Amino acid sequence: MTNVFLVGAGPGDPELLTLKAFRLIQEADILLHDSLADPRIVRMASRHCEKIDVGKRCGKHSASQSQICALLVACAKTGAKIVRLKGGDPMIFGRATEEMAALDAANIAYDIIPGITAATAAAASLQKSLTQRSKARSLHLLTGHGAEGGLPAHDWVALTRSGGTIAVYMGANTLPGLAAHFIEAGMDPATPAIAVENASLHTQRSFSATIATLPRRLAETTTTGPVLLLIGAAMRETDIKTATHAMADSVF
Ligand code: SAH
Repeated sequence: MTNVFLVGAGPGDPELLTLKAFRLIQEADILLHDSLADPRIVRMASRHCEKIDVGKRCGKHSASQSQICALLVACAKTGAKIVRLKGGDPMIFGRATEEMAALDAANIAYDIIPGITAATAAAASLQKSLTQRSKARSLHLLTGHGAEGGLPAHDWVALTRSGGTIAVYMGANTLPGLAAHFIEAGMDPATPAIAVENASLHTQRSFSATIATLPRRLAETTTTGPVLLLIGAAMRETDIKTATHAMADSVF
């Protein structure tokens, strides 16, 4: 029987957890979570559950990925029920591959529980479809932060030509370079671009601009939470309404 679970915690609002994630968190003997994990979700674990903050947040790692893998394997070997909680969906920029490989190497079975990823949470809050029929034929999930640090070498021309919606994770710091690459690749500088901070939480803020102006707009403000960038014609500012009722209705 599996007693190790890599669980998607969703974007922050505890009500956006799956029922399976909720049950497993309540049943966990050991909960390993990132700093991004909402404290209300961590508090769902039982009093007896050992809660370990492995403190991973872009740039500021209090534990390295290999230390997290080693800890996960050591915890799993105790036979206790382990929940490794990951922000959003574990399979989207969640370093799940490394953790699965470590568990595989130790011959430990595990299950993956999907979660709501930041891009769909942000789209819901903005009430904007990421694949609006006449404006976006595809959706691209990009990282703004490569394994070697800095902006990865994406195929800027192909992405621009696709005409799809581009969601950039971990891209707030590299946005100036990212925007310059897109414009150089032929993207219309007036293409709508939005930065969404803390999607799904009461503290959510969004900044609507264009691919040319968003870097300055974001530089003029201080963000403390995670920021997702959404770029493309489907994000046109005049169409944007921000939904606050869904957040205000949370029972947690
Ligand atoms: N596995 C996660 C992504 C982890 S990478 C997921 O599926 O959502 C971390 C990046 O995700 C952040 O830098 C930010 O770009 C984005 N992110 C995560 N939660 C977010 C939130 N609530 N609001 C905005 N962006 C978020």
